[in-house]
Amino acid sequence: MPSATQSGAERTPGKLFVVSAPSGTGKTTVVEALLPLVSGLAMSCSYTSRPPRPGEQDGVDYHFVSRERFEQMRDGTEFLEWATVFGQLYGTGATETRRRLDEGLDLVLVIDVQGAGQVRRLDGTAVGIFVLPPSPAVLEERLRRRSATHLTEAQLRQRLSVARREVEQMPDYDYAIINETLEDCVEELRCIVVAERASRRTRAGAGEAVARAFREWEG
Ligand code: 5GP
Repeated sequence: MPSATQSGAERTPGKLFVVSAPSGTGKTTVVEALLPLVSGLAMSCSYTSRPPRPGEQDGVDYHFVSRERFEQMRDGTEFLEWATVFGQLYGTGATETRRRLDEGLDLVLVIDVQGAGQVRRLDGTAVGIFVLPPSPAVLEERLRRRSATHLTEAQLRQRLSVARREVEQMPDYDYAIINETLEDCVEELRCIVVAERASRRTRAGAGEAVARAFREWEG
């Protein structure tokens, strides 16, 4: 049973699932498709200094803030992690993340490899998931489709070269998923969340409560 539905004293803090992938792999689409399938799971809303793209909403896709405001927040240690990605600043709000975890909600952070490293150092129980495109050629094709809307050729080449470096970080993650089809990718991700929730380490509190009841049982 998801931790968010546990009551009072039994409630354990939520778990962090960190999802990273090269730009264009489709990680946000995958996570958005996952959320309605798993109760007690939410996606974190990051802060960024980059301007919104057409259709993006403040407070939904990102908290869009000025670079000055971001730097103030960063200097005030308001971020759990932060990084510069493609010249823009991105970060995960610390207070909001802790509040939601304390409520027992599990959270997915869709963040880059630098931020994932920071989260790993802060929270040894965070689960790292790396999503890979099936091949460099497929990634290039997906980025080219996107370049028609918001990427210049130079930005596209930069994303491909960053992707090559990011893929080298895969061994630091617990799981690797290859995004061949959206459906299979979402299913693998769902299975990872379900399995991690059932791991003995995650269930320590609830499992110990049942074991204690057995010890005290007069039957
Ligand atoms: P985009 O601007 O295309 O939405 O995102 C660009 C990159 O920033 C992606 O790799 C995305 O995962 C990463 N990103 C988004 N939010 C955060 C965050 O809060 N922290 C970090 N470290 N990276 C983020």
